Amino acid sequence: MPTANILEISQLVKQYPDTTAVAGINFNVPEGCCFGLLGPNGAGKTTTIELLEGLIKPTSGSVLYRGKPLGNDFRQQAGIQFQSTALQDFLTVRESLELFHQLYDHRLPLQQVIEMCDLGDLLDRDNRKLSGGQRQRLLLAIALVNDPQVLFLDEPTTGLDPQARRNFWELIQRIKDDNKTILLTTHYMEEAAVLCDQLIIMDSGKIIAEGTPDNLLNNHFEDVIIELPSALLPDTLSTELQQQVLYRNELVEFASNDVNQLIISLQTLQVPLQQLRIRSRTLEDLFLQLTGKELRS
Ligand code: ATP
Repeated sequence: MPTANILEISQLVKQYPDTTAVAGINFNVPEGCCFGLLGPNGAGKTTTIELLEGLIKPTSGSVLYRGKPLGNDFRQQAGIQFQSTALQDFLTVRESLELFHQLYDHRLPLQQVIEMCDLGDLLDRDNRKLSGGQRQRLLLAIALVNDPQVLFLDEPTTGLDPQARRNFWELIQRIKDDNKTILLTTHYMEEAAVLCDQLIIMDSGKIIAEGTPDNLLNNHFEDVIIELPSALLPDTLSTELQQQVLYRNELVEFASNDVNQLIISLQTLQVPLQQLRIRSRTLEDLFLQLTGKELRS
């Protein structure tokens, strides 16, 4: 049986006086899916997620939650991870959790949320004294107090160090295992590859690609990337090799769909191959190809 769509987005537009932040997008979010919104700075991701959260009103178009416009059911069943400015000063972690917990009719026992987000040792700590990773865990816990059916995370790991980011991914994985629907915006392609079942890539308020990470990569690329330190290559390459260079800095990347031939060409130039590495295409490559932009500007 096909999975029902928990959110259906049709012809969604958000027009500001100077900018069309969201320019008529359509997509569906299947129940239980971790759905990623990717795009360069200013693409319209935050605006889209805020429209889906019901925090801002669309200029036109619709967002349906379980087939109905966003209403009280949605508000009770949605979890939103707010920015850290939503935390009040002079409150402890426990007090912050209690404050949000009392706002909902249906709630998880606080102890369960505390254990899920590993906050047990931090309950008496002032909000302002939390590290970046601890603060994100508290904000996630607040988003989970009502046992939400759909969870919105807007760049949840921006600014975290790699270890804290990985810990956060594990947490999200646990929530996914609980069959929750998650909407996630991120600048980190690795994060999207690890967590997301489906993605849309946005640019200038429009959707420019959508699908599962594997489908997106298979549909756009038939080649692999061969990497070598630049210092090992002569300054001038044959035209055939030059045409395959994707990127050249300290590392040269060749995009090739005939690895054997590429290696023969390199051997002809007497390039030592001990440090040669072959990798598959990643979402990062796709993102660059589609938007022409680095992820962070
Ligand atoms: P980032 O990755 O930098 O967070 P984003 O993809 O989330 O970017 P948005 O924040 O949705 O992008 O912004 C999309 C566009 O809409 C930008 O050009 C932005 O300047 C504009 N915009 C967003 N909010 C407003 C607003 N309240 N008033 C006017 N313009 C806005």
